[in-house]
Amino acid sequence: MFECPSFECDKCPRLLEFRAQNKIKFPHYHNGPVESFGDLGAEVLVVGLAPGLNGANQTNRPFTNDYAGDILYPALKKYGFARGNYGKVRNDGFELINVRVSNAVRCVPPQNKVTADEIAACRPYLQKEIAAMPRLKVILSLGSVSHGAVLQALGYKKSAYKFAHGAEHKLDKHGITLLDSYHTSRYNINTNVLTAAMFDNIIARLKNLL
Ligand code: URA
Repeated sequence: MFECPSFECDKCPRLLEFRAQNKIKFPHYHNGPVESFGDLGAEVLVVGLAPGLNGANQTNRPFTNDYAGDILYPALKKYGFARGNYGKVRNDGFELINVRVSNAVRCVPPQNKVTADEIAACRPYLQKEIAAMPRLKVILSLGSVSHGAVLQALGYKKSAYKFAHGAEHKLDKHGITLLDSYHTSRYNINTNVLTAAMFDNIIARLKNLL
């Protein structure tokens, strides 16, 4: 059975140090590895980058109270992948349908930037999570870091499949399609790298892949 890394996980010195600082600054925040959201029986796994400081790191639910979640969750709901009101808190009653949401790295990193070592240290959790999803058909990677982390978790080289917004990679060995999207970050939205319409189209495609 898959379990999120516990507070005892001490693989990443930089992230541990940041967690310790945040415990002092934000004592009411979760400040630990963030649990995935949604059922292990889902056919879809959405993989983000890492928790945001005041978002998932506060709420212990991926993309929750993060700007990126304001784009992700309404789009999932529009295509029937969620029900209830997304209220930006863990106990808002919002539910995912046939989707699980996770991150390549489960602890908040300084400046939203993760290192290759941190991705490698968190890889076993992603591997176990994927292995614990018996009906998994599609992984939606948000951003190139997630794309690389998913490929490596599945035993491919990062360079085996090139990241491109909207690209569909058939990972036949695993019976999984890897669908790429630009990350729903505030930066990407504010710079029009990703528009709400473009992301809507990705979720429509995701639906068609099932
Ligand atoms: N919040 C998350 O949980 N993951 C991201 O990738 C961004 C924000």
